[in-house]
Amino acid sequence: MREVTLPDGTKVPALGQGTWRMGEQASRAADEIAALREGIALGMTLIDTAEMYGDGGSETMLSEVLKGGVRDGVYLVSKAYPQNASRGRLERACEASLKRLGTDRLDMYLLHWRGGTPLDETVEGMEALRRAGKIRHWGVSNFDADDMDELFEAGGEGCATNQVLYNLARRGPEFDLAPELKARSIPLMAYSPVEQGRLPKTGALASVAQRHGVSPLQIALAWVLRSPDVIAIPKATSLAHVKENRAALDLRLTAEDLAELDGQFPPPQRKRPLEMI
Ligand code: NAP
Repeated sequence: MREVTLPDGTKVPALGQGTWRMGEQASRAADEIAALREGIALGMTLIDTAEMYGDGGSETMLSEVLKGGVRDGVYLVSKAYPQNASRGRLERACEASLKRLGTDRLDMYLLHWRGGTPLDETVEGMEALRRAGKIRHWGVSNFDADDMDELFEAGGEGCATNQVLYNLARRGPEFDLAPELKARSIPLMAYSPVEQGRLPKTGALASVAQRHGVSPLQIALAWVLRSPDVIAIPKATSLAHVKENRAALDLRLTAEDLAELDGQFPPPQRKRPLEMI
């Protein structure tokens, strides 16, 4: 598994697994657990969840995945609601996530999106959790370039990632956010890397896919993974999708492929506000 380096030198898998919309229905739990376990076996050991997902159901379902010694081989990411971003509430939210997950620490804890809590309070809360050994790293999500500037002004130099919407159809972050993160050696964590399966499977994606003998969405994922400092966290409940996603990491897009994809999905020429799903 190719790895991406966090600012403190820790290496994490470039390709992980998302869990939004998992843990919502008991009848689907066995398939979800099997898909995530298959992904882990294939090296996709970074797993992303949030207290929001399934109202805690995603974390509870994950506790099953992590049993039997699996936990130690996983880089576990969870997120706090903005209303839990103050120091005291962050600690309680983190404890509740740990309990649902059946573990004693998170590898990464993110503020899910920015709310009304002053950023210095959140930074203080995250750093306190880190010192207490409840979390190993912390970061943010859905922060645009100006939010990152404010975060650093609020003492947030310890931020280890920013998880944002980034895929072929959502290239806005390339204009300013991604360069700013790169300058600080902070990897970008791309969510919805295949646009929830809704990318057009015709045109450039189809022709590049045909050249490589893979599916259009594998090309879309390989495109997100083309940068050495981007982590992608596709969500897949189908075993076939899990295997395809792992295989996408090994695809090498050529200059011709990239130019063709740029034709259909042009890079941003000016600032576009960060989008959210
Ligand atoms: P996504 O990963 O872009 O797409 C997931 C959808 O695509 C599922 O319907 C899945 O189907 C399908 N899929 C996956 N791999 C495929 C493949 N190789 N071929 C065809 N279809 C494929 O969207 P997402 O779930 O929104 O994003 C991924 C993760 O990012 C989330 O699960 C969550 O952990 C995180 N996220 C974070 C935020 C945030 O605000 N921080 C927002 C959104 C998402 P099956 O499930 O049927 O296999």
